[in-house]
Amino acid sequence: MRLRRVARASVNTPRLIAAAAREVRRADPLGTMVASVYQIIGATAALGVVAAGKLTFDALLQPEQAALGITPSLLLLALATALSGSVGPLQTQQHRLLGERVSQRVWDRVLDTTARADLVTYESSGFATSLERIQQNALTRPFAVTTSLLGLTGGLLGVVTLSAVLIGVEPLLVPILLAAGLPAVLLSRWASRTEFTFAHRLTPLARRRNYLRQLLTQRPYAAELRAFDSTGRLREKHEELNRDVNAGLRKQVRHRQLIAALTTLGVAAALTGALLAIVALVRQGRIGLAEAGAAAIAVRLLSGQLSTLFTAIGGLFESAPFLADLERFVASVPPAEARGRKRALTEGVALCDVTFRYPGQERPAVDGVDIRIGAGEVVALVGENGSGKTTLAKIAAGLYAPDTGSRRWDGAVVPAADVRASVTVIFQDFVRYQLTLRDNIVISDEYHDESDVEDAAKRAGLLAATRELPDGLDTMLGRDLDEGVDLSGGQWQRVALARALYRDTGLVVLDEPAASLDPRAEYELFADVRAMLGGRAALLISHRFSSTRLADRIYVLDGGRVVECGTHDELMSRAGQYAELYTLQSAAYR
Ligand code: ADP
Repeated sequence: MRLRRVARASVNTPRLIAAAAREVRRADPLGTMVASVYQIIGATAALGVVAAGKLTFDALLQPEQAALGITPSLLLLALATALSGSVGPLQTQQHRLLGERVSQRVWDRVLDTTARADLVTYESSGFATSLERIQQNALTRPFAVTTSLLGLTGGLLGVVTLSAVLIGVEPLLVPILLAAGLPAVLLSRWASRTEFTFAHRLTPLARRRNYLRQLLTQRPYAAELRAFDSTGRLREKHEELNRDVNAGLRKQVRHRQLIAALTTLGVAAALTGALLAIVALVRQGRIGLAEAGAAAIAVRLLSGQLSTLFTAIGGLFESAPFLADLERFVASVPPAEARGRKRALTEGVALCDVTFRYPGQERPAVDGVDIRIGAGEVVALVGENGSGKTTLAKIAAGLYAPDTGSRRWDGAVVPAADVRASVTVIFQDFVRYQLTLRDNIVISDEYHDESDVEDAAKRAGLLAATRELPDGLDTMLGRDLDEGVDLSGGQWQRVALARALYRDTGLVVLDEPAASLDPRAEYELFADVRAMLGGRAALLISHRFSSTRLADRIYVLDGGRVVECGTHDELMSRAGQYAELYTLQSAAYR
């Protein structure tokens, strides 16, 4: 009920239709023109059919007055009928082209919006749901709007020309036929509302079902699903969702069938009324048989045009709430910030009394934290799961803005975009791009010299692996697209490191950079971590104390707060939480 009110209150249909018409024209000006020409041909051909029909009836009823006999009028009738019949299929194909162009334009708007959404927006659940709804509806609607708009202009043109003909015969015929329009338009408004409410209800189900489909079909999940033999159980859940979708859809389809039946009945009643009126006119001797025949043809054609017109209006009403949804989605994300400027790091980065709470969460994930990372220093964050390490790293990297407190770059508060441009982050769940090895590295920055690509690969310990690949740096990686070479977890991690090192920034944030490395590889990485970093400062998150003990400073986090800070030796001699966790971990190895 509430949703319905929202939909009704916020949709300004004429404005949206005007905006949609503009979008269609801008998407493909030439295509729009060709489609309009087809509409004009269609309307002219319909008039031709009526005129040729009149001539044919005249020739039939008064052969003595037709000097050339009935043949020319029959030929004309055949030609006009063929022309009017062939415009439809031509239009359908033209609409496919136009629809694709419009859909591309709308996709561009959606992608522009997602690109400028910041990370906090992205992580809020409302954003994901509206994005899914947009993808399911708003992206298919532009095609419907395109066809509806063209139907509207074609239908209007036909209605106007045929009405003019009928007014010549008997003006009363036109209002009789138009009377079918009002209920049709009202019914289509009703249809549009039920359709939007239905889509709102369906989206959460569809999201869950899509997720299950991904689990059941995609490679990364195949091994675990088979190991647990859990495909059957997931299929049951999928089946349950199918049942829910079917129940909702059945109800909606019944609604729509009722609406369609009522609309058709209205049109049929108007058609019958008009034909009865023609019969009455003939009986009264007000029109001749030839006029009556032509009028009957015109009535039949006009009812066809009217039904095109009403379908188009209905289509526009139906699409308007989805277009409004798209507009709201685009407007919900503020304009993009100016691109950040990469800054050198000369003193260091400091987080001063920083607090951050995720939207909808009661407890802050980071609570009054002070940390400092001097230029060239390696600083480690340790702490149990959920203690706030990753959140803090995202704040340091400019991905989240602190709720209170400040983030200082060389002592000054600078725009978040500048921080993002000046920091490199490799997350624990880094992306394995299904692209070439080179693209996997250079995607992190503007293209530099070839020697920089090789240097990054070398520092990340990838050189040997690169030599073994069939096309070296140009080898396609990953099996998701069925053409690449798959790498081991450790090798992928090195690719991510190379990506981080290629982007030459003063600070690198490394979230569990050795999680997939074997002990020897991890030892090698950290034994020479400073050489690998080449003077860059690093904020290192790791559960492995062997890798954090070399840090210049270690911050121990607990429940979003810093509870201890110092070098490894200082923290060990303090015999606090760090010493306890370190001893626990090393005892496991002894
Ligand atoms: P760590 O990296 O130390 O494991 P995180 O920074 O990931 O800790 O998480 C800190 C706290 O914030 C946890 O309580 C976690 O549940 C919460 N949290 C993390 N990410 C989100 C999120 N996107 N939305 C809401 N809460 C989150």
